[in-house]
Amino acid sequence: MPSRPQPSFPEHDTQPYWDAVKDGKLTYHVCTDCSAVVFTPRGQCTECGSDSLEVRESSGMGTVYTYSVIRQNRVPAFAELGAYALAYVDLDEGFRMLTNIVGVADPTKDVKIGQRVKVEFEAQDTGDYPIPVFRPV
Ligand SMILES: [Zn+2]
Repeated sequence: MPSRPQPSFPEHDTQPYWDAVKDGKLTYHVCTDCSAVVFTPRGQCTECGSDSLEVRESSGMGTVYTYSVIRQNRVPAFAELGAYALAYVDLDEGFRMLTNIVGVADPTKDVKIGQRVKVEFEAQDTGDYPIPVFRPV
C-alpha cells in the first residue's frame, strides 16, 4: 500500500512542526503578545497578527469534536483502507486538528463525539514523516 502524501519542503511555517512529529512530539504555537493558541503551524498569530509565537509541546490528549466515516477513497494511499474515521480532535491545550481515529474495530460504531483520545504517530512505508493520528483511551 502506498504511503499517505508527505509534506514537501522547503516550507518555512510547517517544517519545524513536521520535524517535531518525526521526533514523536505534537507541537503548537502560543502568541507571546496576546496568549492565543495557534494551530496549524504558521508564521503569524491568527488573533493579533504578531509574529512572536512560542512553540509548545502538546500532551497529545484530546476529545473528539466531530467525525465522519469515509467508506471509499480513490486516492491510492487510502483505497484499501476500508471504512475509516476522519475527525476533528480538540486538544487539551486549546487547539483543534483534523486527523484520523485509529484502533477501533468498527469506525461506524466505535467513534463517539466527546470520546477521549491520545495522539500516536503512524509510521509510513516511505517518506520521512509519520502522521499524527488519535486512538481512544
Ligand atoms: Zn496574538
